[in-house]
Amino acid sequence: MTDRLTPEQRHLVMSHIHGKGTKPELKVRQWLWHHGYHYRLNVKSVPGKPDIVMRKYHTAIFVNGCFWHGHQLEWNPEGLTDRMGGKTENGEREAANSACCKIPQTNRAFWVNKIQKNQQRDQRNYQILKDNGWQVIVIWECQLTSKRIEHTMNEVELLLNNKLLSLYCKHTPFSYPSEEEGPLPMAAETL
Ligand SMILES: [Zn+2]
Repeated sequence: MTDRLTPEQRHLVMSHIHGKGTKPELKVRQWLWHHGYHYRLNVKSVPGKPDIVMRKYHTAIFVNGCFWHGHQLEWNPEGLTDRMGGKTENGEREAANSACCKIPQTNRAFWVNKIQKNQQRDQRNYQILKDNGWQVIVIWECQLTSKRIEHTMNEVELLLNNKLLSLYCKHTPFSYPSEEEGPLPMAAETL
């Protein structure tokens, strides 16, 4: 790929790749670890290479950057407009900026196209996983600020436990998962 980006654009790209402070994915991993959850990272055998795989919960977690994955973008079916407000020749789709995904005005068609492709690939991956019985959880970068992370992860925890419940209810009704937890104390034994 030829480098047609201005220094400002290059800086933007690099800052989005490396992020500021702790990587969002790392925050999720740390939270899960501190709360006793086990997981694997970037498992290649699972479709779409999710960031975090929790086999026991049949759950794949994607931690998405708001810019690259176009969080809350509203796509305009009318197509991309050029700077003068007219249609561009290629008829690319346009998206209005969202609070956490601000697409640069310069080279806008390029960015819009890139983000759209990412979104389409994401959806394909999520669908394959769902078709194979996986629960897919998408966590957005903006949901992991110090203010929001606890609330976000509590919701994730709820989804994990619901999935676990549904898995065990289906296969072995009325029993608890005991393989990894060790045998449960049985009330009958104390009699
Ligand atoms: Zn966001």
